[in-house]
Amino acid sequence: GAAAGGAVSREEVGRAAWTFLHTLAAQYPEKPSRQQQRDARNLMDILTRMYPCGECARHFREVVRASPPAVDSRAAFSLWMCEAHNTVNRQLGKPAFNCALVEARWAGIECGEEGEGGGSACSLE
Ligand code: FAD
Repeated sequence: GAAAGGAVSREEVGRAAWTFLHTLAAQYPEKPSRQQQRDARNLMDILTRMYPCGECARHFREVVRASPPAVDSRAAFSLWMCEAHNTVNRQLGKPAFNCALVEARWAGIECGEEGEGGGSACSLE
């Protein structure tokens, strides 16, 4: 396993990647700028080539082709991420996750302190 060092399994990298991606979506701005929307689309596109499991990357390319990332708002991006994850779940024979519960399961990063600008230290707004 990862704790012992050495190579990580597809499952380990998958859980870490989904934690990263759902947390990223939960932190995504409610009103993203054009640049932030471009960044979200580009990041998903880059994953279809650079995700560190070639077969997974190729599968994800089909997912993104069939359903391009919805990047208009935090809610839209979080739902898109949940549905993309469900498509992968289906391909792997895993149960679907109820996307009505996605904001309860992935609520962003723990980060309570107030930043200089008055917002939370972790806010991207
Ligand atoms: P994971 O699927 O890793 O999920 C982690 C946790 O997320 C779950 O315990 C649950 O609490 C929550 N969750 C589950 N579904 C959702 C959802 N829809 N929305 C929000 N939260 C949810 N593996 C392969 O073998 N072949 C592939 O082609 C492949 N492609 C992948 C593509 C991408 C982009 C990623 C990120 C991963 C891919 N994986 C692939 C890995 C695979 O999706 C799983 O991460 C891995 O099998 C471990 O699964 P798990 O059951 O531990 O839970």
